[in-house]
Amino acid sequence: MNNTDFIKAVAELGITVTQEHINFLEKYYKLLVEWNEKINLTAITDHDEVYLKHFYDSLTLSRVVDLKNEQSLCDIGTGAGFPGIVLKIFFPHLKLTLVDALNKRIKFLEIVVKELDLKQVFLIHARAEEYALKNKEKFDIVTARAVASLNILLEYSLPLVKVNKYFIAMKGKEDLDQSKNALLLLNGKVLKNCEFLLPVENSQRTIIKIQKTSSTPSKYPRRYADIKKRPL
Ligand code: SAM
Repeated sequence: MNNTDFIKAVAELGITVTQEHINFLEKYYKLLVEWNEKINLTAITDHDEVYLKHFYDSLTLSRVVDLKNEQSLCDIGTGAGFPGIVLKIFFPHLKLTLVDALNKRIKFLEIVVKELDLKQVFLIHARAEEYALKNKEKFDIVTARAVASLNILLEYSLPLVKVNKYFIAMKGKEDLDQSKNALLLLNGKVLKNCEFLLPVENSQRTIIKIQKTSSTPSKYPRRYADIKKRPL
């Protein structure tokens, strides 16, 4: 996806791309490629492919929520910053928290935040389920792209969400039936299940918007070993 096609596709999501946005994305792209040679950040490095599979794909979260109306967003398992950093570039008012279990990725994100001069970005080196224990009901939006199966992700994420606000899972193909039990136990309700094809390559994408209907029972999230051994 070249820059012209990117601008058109993003406009269809209801987002206007300015030259300033492109300048930010170009800087981010350069840092990604440069640091990817030293630390493993992504398998995708071709310019147009990064624009499609990382930058555009991150913005598709806007299909299910208008971020202009939200104040805080937490991206768990953010890796090299997807979708969190891209969303921050387009919605700079967001108070953004990025969580990843791998410190080298957090170190890379420190450089991105500094070079792009992003404000109100908090970088957390932790496992999401441990971070969630001390940060319950803190965020308007919690999201994760390509981190774990939905039933497991729900246990990591829903505790972090404020009551009545949303967890948004960005997935490839997803079978919601496998998460019925987790939704029930963690007080989550599916509001939208948005299936679409990524432009150009037509691969399947699913974005699931889940509302937290009431507080998560205090026994969740459990320790990682228990989550893995007995997923909800
Ligand atoms: N979200 C990014 C993206 O879509 O490009 C990265 C996806 S990568 C496949 C998964 C990331 O999740 C890795 O950086 C990994 O370290 C992180 N991760 C996996 N389980 C995690 C957990 N329980 N807590 C925090 N980070 C986790």
